[in-house]
Amino acid sequence: MLLKQYEQGRQFMAKLEYQSDLLEELNKICREENIKTGVINAIGAVSSLKLGFYDQETKEYIITTYAYDEPMEIVSCSGNISLKDGKPFSHVHIVAADRKGKCIGGHLVQGTAVFAGEVFVQELLGEDLVREEDEETKLTLWK
Ligand code: ZN
Repeated sequence: MLLKQYEQGRQFMAKLEYQSDLLEELNKICREENIKTGVINAIGAVSSLKLGFYDQETKEYIITTYAYDEPMEIVSCSGNISLKDGKPFSHVHIVAADRKGKCIGGHLVQGTAVFAGEVFVQELLGEDLVREEDEETKLTLWK
């Protein structure tokens, strides 16, 4: 296990622009504010949703999109910020509900269109948290 302790840094509240890309906007906040380590929490709604699912056998992301080309509520969207290739990188998962309340979820990828987005970002201060390729999983995990 890797365990590191952090102090609380700055806290941000952000309103995302209509039809912006959810993941790109979260990454933009991290890069523009130089948040190297932190946690992300967001709620709101999306016009369309694009998710990834990591196939543990082929070790590749399967990108799902066509089934979720409809308005959905963001029930929960949470993630963390760490360094990947020397730059702040957001790893974000999302659960979204359709008009009947039926939820789907997964790993957020580029291509999700924001209808309305309210974001909280907590910066954490301390030792850098760096992602590198992991031998076993082939994911970029914390080292
Ligand atoms: Zn993920």
